[in-house]
Amino acid sequence: MTTTQRLGGRTALVTGGSRGIGRAISRRLAREGALVAVHYGHNQDAAERTVKEIGADGGRAFAVHAELGVPGDAATLWAAFDEGLSGQDAEPGVDILVNNAGITLPRPLAHVTEEDYDRVFAVNTKAPFFIVQGALDRLRDGGRIVNISTGVTRFAFPPIVAYAMTKGALDVLTTNLAQELGPRGITVNAVAPGFTETEINPTLADPQIRKRYSDHSVFGRLGQPADIADVVSFLVSDDGRWVTGQWIDATGGVHLGV
Ligand code: NAP
Repeated sequence: MTTTQRLGGRTALVTGGSRGIGRAISRRLAREGALVAVHYGHNQDAAERTVKEIGADGGRAFAVHAELGVPGDAATLWAAFDEGLSGQDAEPGVDILVNNAGITLPRPLAHVTEEDYDRVFAVNTKAPFFIVQGALDRLRDGGRIVNISTGVTRFAFPPIVAYAMTKGALDVLTTNLAQELGPRGITVNAVAPGFTETEINPTLADPQIRKRYSDHSVFGRLGQPADIADVVSFLVSDDGRWVTGQWIDATGGVHLGV
C-alpha cells in the first residue's frame, strides 16, 4: 500500500496542531486520510488557517480550542474534541493522539523562577499526562499515541534545562504507557526533534545562531517541521505496528559523536 489514504477511517487529535511541527503533522495525517482535530490554545487564526489548508488539500479537519497549563485543561480539551467530532460524520472516539503542544523555557538553572518552572511543567508534562488519562476510554484498540519529546533528553544542553526535564518525564510516560496499552494493540512512542525551524525558536532569525544550530546536525541544516511529521506518519500507520515504547531520534544526527 502507498502512503495515500493509509489512515482512511481514522480520527486523530494533534495537540498544538495549528502551528509549527503540529501543523505539519496535522497536514500529513490528513493527507493520508485521517480526520484531524487541530488543537490550539491561543491563536485561533492559525488553527483555522491549518484547517482550511487541509480542506484545500482534499482532507478533513476541525479546530479544537483548549488552553493547556491551566486547571482542568485536559477535561476542557476532551469536551471540545467530543463536541467538534459530533459535528463531523464520524464515530465517537479517537485512533491517534499526538501530544505535540509545548512551550520552551530558554533560561539556565540560575535564572529559572518557581513560576517559570511550574508553567513549563504544567504545559509540557502535566497536560499530556491528563490528556492521555482522558484518552484511555476514547482510544480505540489498535490505536496510536506519539509524544513529541526533544533531543535534549539525550544530550546535555544546560541553557534549557527545565524544559529538557519536562520532556524527560514525557519519555518515562512513553515507556510506561507502551507497557500498559500493549495488550490493546496500542503503540506509544516518543519522537525527538532537534533544532527545528518554527516560531518556538525566534533566535533562528539571527544568521549566526542559525549557522551554529545547523552545524549541530550531521546534515548541516536545521530540521523542518515536515522532517518530524514524516516520522510520526510512519509510527501511526499500520507499518509502525511493531514499534512501541521507543524514543525515536529525529534530530538529524545532532551530537552523534564527540
Ligand atoms: P510552536 O511553533 O511554538 O507551536 C506550538 C503549538 O503548541 C501551537 O500550536 C500552540 O498553539 C500550542 N501551544 C503552546 N502552548 C500552548 C498552551 N498553553 N495551550 C494550548 N496550546 C499551546 O512550537 P513547535 O516548535 O512546533 O513545537 C512543537 C513541539 O515540538 C513542542 O512540544 C516542542 O517542545 C517540541 N520540540 C520543538 C523543537 C524545535 O526546535 N522547534 C525541538 C524539540 C522539540 P497556540 O499558539 O494557539 O497556543
